[in-house]
Amino acid sequence: MPENWSVVYQTLLEAFGPQHWWPADTPLEVMVGAILTQNTAWRNVEQAIARLKASGSLEVRAILERPAEQLEQDLRPAGYFRVKAVRLRALCRFLEQQGCAEAPASLAEKGDTASLRQRLLDVHGIGEETADSILLYALEKPVMVVDAYTRRLSQRMGWSGPRIAYASLQKDVDAGLPPGDTGIRKELHALIVQLGKEFCRARPRCPGCPLQKQCAHGRPVSH
Ligand code: SF4
Repeated sequence: MPENWSVVYQTLLEAFGPQHWWPADTPLEVMVGAILTQNTAWRNVEQAIARLKASGSLEVRAILERPAEQLEQDLRPAGYFRVKAVRLRALCRFLEQQGCAEAPASLAEKGDTASLRQRLLDVHGIGEETADSILLYALEKPVMVVDAYTRRLSQRMGWSGPRIAYASLQKDVDAGLPPGDTGIRKELHALIVQLGKEFCRARPRCPGCPLQKQCAHGRPVSH
């Protein structure tokens, strides 16, 4: 049901207003946050980023030069800090190899979106959701991010099964949105996350949900 994703966008925007994502001061901070947010809540990421900033380490070369133990201590609040330190270094090495250490946003000019996506996926620890978050929010590419909230929403709306592949769901959402519109994709992903936190939780709170009338799971049964 691709066309319905633009209705989801309109409805959620009216209900919640603009979400002003991604919360970060620089494109590198977006990229770092996209890795640190794997398997943890955003408030923990904020603490780790604050530590990186306090130690003057939120720069590509500073991350690469920081002693491993100190970098791990900076990342400790985000959980899995050893794994994430390795992943962060891999990202920074990649940016350096691409000639983007000084200006990470310039990665956007190093090829078309498909080739950038593939190169990001080749970096250790970067999967589809992380790569797409970087493309969309750090590099301003019109790529839809699919996460667990999107998957759950699509399933409950009655549009897909629980095991739909990332690429299929991404294609489905993308097809319902104006081609090439980065702003809508940024906003829609943020709105879906907000819906997932407030209403469409593991145990859904359907009464009051802005999508209840359209939703197969939440629609009140008429007798
Ligand atoms: S009506 Fe219920 S199941 Fe449907 S989107 Fe809203 S919270 Fe989720």
